[in-house]
Amino acid sequence: MIGVTVLGSTGSIGVSTLDVVSRHPERFRVVALTANGNVDRLAEQCRRFHPFYAVMADQGAAARLAELLGGMPGGPRVLGGVEGLEQVASLAETQYVMAAIVGAAGLRPTLAAARSGKRVLLANKESLVMAGALLMEAIEDSGAELLPIDSEHNAIFQCLPGGFGRGLPEVGVERILLTASGGPFREWPAERLAAVTPDQACAHPVWRMGRKISVDSATLMNKGLEVIEACWLFGTSPDRVQVVIHPQSVIHSLVQYRDGSVLAQLGNPDMRTPIAHALAWPERLESGVAPLDLVEVGRLEFEAADLSRFPCLGLAFEAARTGGSAPAVLNAANEVAVAGFLDGRLGFPQIAELVDRTLQGMPLQAVEGGTLDTLLDIDRRARVLAGSLLGNYH
Ligand code: NAD
Ligand code: MG
Repeated sequence: MIGVTVLGSTGSIGVSTLDVVSRHPERFRVVALTANGNVDRLAEQCRRFHPFYAVMADQGAAARLAELLGGMPGGPRVLGGVEGLEQVASLAETQYVMAAIVGAAGLRPTLAAARSGKRVLLANKESLVMAGALLMEAIEDSGAELLPIDSEHNAIFQCLPGGFGRGLPEVGVERILLTASGGPFREWPAERLAAVTPDQACAHPVWRMGRKISVDSATLMNKGLEVIEACWLFGTSPDRVQVVIHPQSVIHSLVQYRDGSVLAQLGNPDMRTPIAHALAWPERLESGVAPLDLVEVGRLEFEAADLSRFPCLGLAFEAARTGGSAPAVLNAANEVAVAGFLDGRLGFPQIAELVDRTLQGMPLQAVEGGTLDTLLDIDRRARVLAGSLLGNYH
């Protein structure tokens, strides 16, 4: 029996993970579930999956959960705060940790899982963008396994040969082709983008996801974060990563080899496929995803990304090339900007503007050999600056 901790179990990825896990009760045992503030949904999941631990990041919510589950026979131990999240990410009873918290808040628990040698199923791309060197080093030092859940990176992982850790040129790889749906505004003229509302931005044409990543998909910042994520996961420079818009989201990404071969991974756009892949690897498990019907899909289209309407992608490429503190600043500023947009304090085109201004306002800092505290400090200072810049938009 494999013990599984699901960090962020009440979110879109968390719920899909529990769906796959529940199809294989002979193989997986849910050890811990965590959420930020959604007490009712976590309580409901506890009644269904009987974890040993339940953690609410918010301490007040932890107290409410403990009260709610008070009468439950064999109920979980309820913990609170980021220390509780770190604890359940490194439990001896847990072998696999699904890292599906959204944003930089996922870094500490994801790092705890990496340091304690778990199989880390990484959905929380922000932690890699913010602290790639630290996280990759922790994985290596502890002998942990890192399996990408992001559909593109999971696809690339499936298209690469086993020894890719030696470096992409060593295994004959020329380029990584990262596909992007293009988001809900792919065909919108620039003038219309100023009036975009949060609900329009969150209505993704293909994927149903949490609100933060939905906005990131609409600005193409999501693809930018994924470029940085790919650089860390596959040990490559951004110059070997090309973004290709593919509206159908059936090809999840491709790998181009030296001899002209291009390998792709296809499937219906349903996150249960990469989740099942990472849970089962190197085996295969049934995921609940309907088989792909290519005749029904009919057409697969491709186009170039438009960096003038979607400058966030360009900013992310630039941060990837700059390195050092730039990706962490980019990520922090983006989180502040997206929250501001969702609260109605910032227009859609100003998301990129705020990120750019924050990057320009923060001195570039080396992070090689930096500690977690170094990165948390960069993240904090970037948020303070982005927050004060946000104030100027009123
Ligand atoms: P979501 O908003 O649906 O869920 C987020 C989860 O994190 C929830 O369980 C929430 O309670 C928890 N959480 C939020 N803030 C927290 C905090 N401060 N401390 C602790 N827990 C907190 O998000 P999602 O769409 O499931 O995305 C989760 C992660 O997976 C993101 O990093 C996203 O980029 C990545 N991802 C998602 C998808 C997708 O299809 N949804 C695809 C690829 C990658
Ligand atoms: Mg993705």
